[in-house]
Amino acid sequence: MSDESPGTIEPWLKQKGAAYAVAVDGGGTSAKYGVSGIPDAFLIGPDGKIVWQGHPSNVTEKEIEAVLQKVCVRFDYVFGAKFKAIEAKVRKKDFGGAAADLAKMADLSGNDAAEAKRISDDLEGFAKDKQAQVEEAAKSREYAEAVEILAELGKQWKGHAVGAAADEKLKGWKADAAIQKELKAGQLFAQGAGLEEKFQFAQAAGLYTQITKAHAGTRAAEKAQEALDRIQKEALLKFDPGCGNCKKAGKTCPKHRSK
Ligand SMILES: [Zn+2]
Repeated sequence: MSDESPGTIEPWLKQKGAAYAVAVDGGGTSAKYGVSGIPDAFLIGPDGKIVWQGHPSNVTEKEIEAVLQKVCVRFDYVFGAKFKAIEAKVRKKDFGGAAADLAKMADLSGNDAAEAKRISDDLEGFAKDKQAQVEEAAKSREYAEAVEILAELGKQWKGHAVGAAADEKLKGWKADAAIQKELKAGQLFAQGAGLEEKFQFAQAAGLYTQITKAHAGTRAAEKAQEALDRIQKEALLKFDPGCGNCKKAGKTCPKHRSK
């Protein structure tokens, strides 16, 4: 959530390649949340209650994971009496187990048969969405993202053809030197992005330069070159951590740009 206008926010998001939603605070929302400085983050549970508040760098993965355990977006309906054991597996993200149990259920008729089909279709659709995300990420050579989804599929669909296919693909990728090279370069690029978030632009530029040389030809090298061009264009090396305007903008302010 930002207190700036869409005209200011949109170019910034585009330039950073941000793939998340940003809301514009037009009605004093930040005041209602008691926000006095930025960045200020809130972790809100599926029941709408605030679970955590603070600087975003202080929230732990464990705290986020605890909230995510309670959320299951696709299966947002109450399962019928016959399907409670399957629901429990779905909530635990044991989709392979749920699908196997569902396949074993025989002699269903009427509403039960319809419900079994809906759950089965949803499970299948959920797996297909994830598989499509893997394909999409691999196509754009974003292998870190693809590997993460494959590992998730392998775990959540254990004992099922979906899980086996994911494990098999991951195994093939581990033996693929070109993909491993992409992954290694991708990790370095992520470190560079982390440095930029801490306004350490000189260190980030150093790392990006190293990626373009040592990992030429990878997607990360392309992104590193784009980042270097952006650092140059925005005079980010002139960023002054002691300047309120630089910090507020998250980039070099006009005064320091012209220095
Ligand atoms: Zn400044």
